[in-house]
Amino acid sequence: MTCSDSDEKYMKAALLQAEKALVKNEVPIGCVILREGKIIARGYNRRTEAGNVLAHAEIIAIQKACRKLQDWRLEDCTLYVTLEPCPMCAGAIVQARIPRVVIGCMNPKAGCAGSILDLFHEERFNHQVETRTGVLEADCSALMKRFFAVLRKGWKEKKALRRAERLQQEAADGAITEPAARKLPAKMKEA
Ligand SMILES: [Zn+2]
Repeated sequence: MTCSDSDEKYMKAALLQAEKALVKNEVPIGCVILREGKIIARGYNRRTEAGNVLAHAEIIAIQKACRKLQDWRLEDCTLYVTLEPCPMCAGAIVQARIPRVVIGCMNPKAGCAGSILDLFHEERFNHQVETRTGVLEADCSALMKRFFAVLRKGWKEKKALRRAERLQQEAADGAITEPAARKLPAKMKEA
């Protein structure tokens, strides 16, 4: 198996983790940590469910790997993550001395593996991280897009509902003006 084939194989495992987050209405980010050809830790974003800003996929996986190895150094490991790590996770990866990180899609709004900052190739740190990006990129970003499309649809529906409720209340109060009345949905005008 070539390096690229095995990267795709383990990114698929990270994608499975991301899907678990999606099912729970969390931003779908998944992570696995590989050591000596075996996945030793998995994690997916649980920030909302846990009510904890630290509950990112990478942090959860790093904690599990440290527990398993009884070591804070993850020196022989490769970390696979579906989205470019944020500053906190990139920092934890550097702290854990993880030598290699494989990334699915980039995160132009918060990514610290090259998008906003590159904490993995900062020569002033005592540890640099070999980085490979764009592995199963289309699958990783499709998952993110699916999540945000559903979220936006929910927002729009909530907004429309609030507006309809407000107009209905105004009509009931007799405070409604003609132009506002014309904006009422057809169903409500009949009522
Ligand atoms: Zn993070």
